[in-house]
Amino acid sequence: MQYSEIMVRYGELSTKGKNRQAFIGRLNGNVTKALHEFPALTIRPKRDRLHIELNGEDSDAVMDRLSRVFGIQSYSPSVAVEKDMAKVHEAALQLMNETAPLGSSYKVNTRRSDHSFELDTNAMNLNMGDFFVEARPDLVVKMKDPDLILRVEVRKEAIYLSTRKILGAGGLPVGTAGKAVLMLSGGIDSPVAGYYALKRGVDLEMVHFFSPPYTSDSALNKAKQLTAKLAPYAGNIRFMQVPFTEIQETIKANVPEGYLMTVQRRLMLRLAEALAKKVGALAIFNGESVGQVASQTLESMVAINDVTTFPIIRPVATMDKNEIIKVAQDLDTYDLSIMPFEDCCTIFAPPAPKTKPNLDRARYFESKLDIDGLMQRALDGVKTTVIKGSDQFMDQQQDIISELL
Ligand code: ATP
Ligand code: MG
Repeated sequence: MQYSEIMVRYGELSTKGKNRQAFIGRLNGNVTKALHEFPALTIRPKRDRLHIELNGEDSDAVMDRLSRVFGIQSYSPSVAVEKDMAKVHEAALQLMNETAPLGSSYKVNTRRSDHSFELDTNAMNLNMGDFFVEARPDLVVKMKDPDLILRVEVRKEAIYLSTRKILGAGGLPVGTAGKAVLMLSGGIDSPVAGYYALKRGVDLEMVHFFSPPYTSDSALNKAKQLTAKLAPYAGNIRFMQVPFTEIQETIKANVPEGYLMTVQRRLMLRLAEALAKKVGALAIFNGESVGQVASQTLESMVAINDVTTFPIIRPVATMDKNEIIKVAQDLDTYDLSIMPFEDCCTIFAPPAPKTKPNLDRARYFESKLDIDGLMQRALDGVKTTVIKGSDQFMDQQQDIISELL
């Protein structure tokens, strides 16, 4: 079937009262960005629906991109037909022949915004039902839970028909919740945390700590590739790489083994906060899950969280590892995440980190270090890359990672 438009239903934003216009505007912008590779499209945001006129573009390719735009509840590929019932019947039959297998149950659901049309919603439902008794005698009308619904929309310019309703990504349009930084390692959990942040409308910038020569270019590249996997949900994502070698070496030389990890994490968080302030972010997201490892016990969180008053949001805090892995697989980040490159934390990880570090002791050991100097040098060494959300990226990541600085 040659569809003429994709009809998009808004997600949660429908309930947002006077913010509605801002939400629709942002969703329109995000949809436009996500579909920039299809120049023939016309995108029309309306009060309760967004219409994407295909003008000959491939509906499956367009819907594939659309499936990763947050703020969309569902969408339906539709056919526009001239307001002439003979033509409506012909198109409806073709649509049903393609989407309703022999013996399917169905019902007709009409919406009418053009009240001057000769048939009202009831008359339209009956008219279509009568038509299908003749044209497809195998079909069974069923009001409750039919196999499919033939949707008929009578609008000013045409009558629109659709039989498919595809679930969208849900959530809120990215950007409507403001900006945050995500502490992105090369592991399984933090990309999943990033996905959930984006889903709630948070625009993300990545902060990644790396420690050359202890960590390789491959490890750094892996973090960029993970960012690329999230980019289709976000548009472009800025990736900040923070040199962490001097800090780790200094901590290793000056802090007792039991507190190495706690003090390292405190420094990471201090740097994340400094970068968040610099880019205008209002919160820090990370991939911590309660009790998963020594640094993620509640006692550790107390001893680490101490360095900042920024909101730290941990979307996967209460998820089991298996649940996180399931999402990572759906996101297609899992295979990348399990590639065995040394992470800056594993290399400097003490054999027995304290699972219940003491806050005062953590503060005391840290106070022996030149925090300001260490932080300043790390911040001076930050390099930023823009990772683009275009699909080409998946094939040719290197070409499209454009160095900013
Ligand atoms: P992940 O799978 O996300 O790496 P993890 O279970 O390995 O998580 P940790 O290594 O303890 O857990 O890290 C906890 C969180 O700290 C990570 O989810 C991430 O948000 C942050 N983090 C750890 N290492 C780095 C890093 N090199 N750069 C940026 N953030 C990091
Ligand atoms: Mg990790």
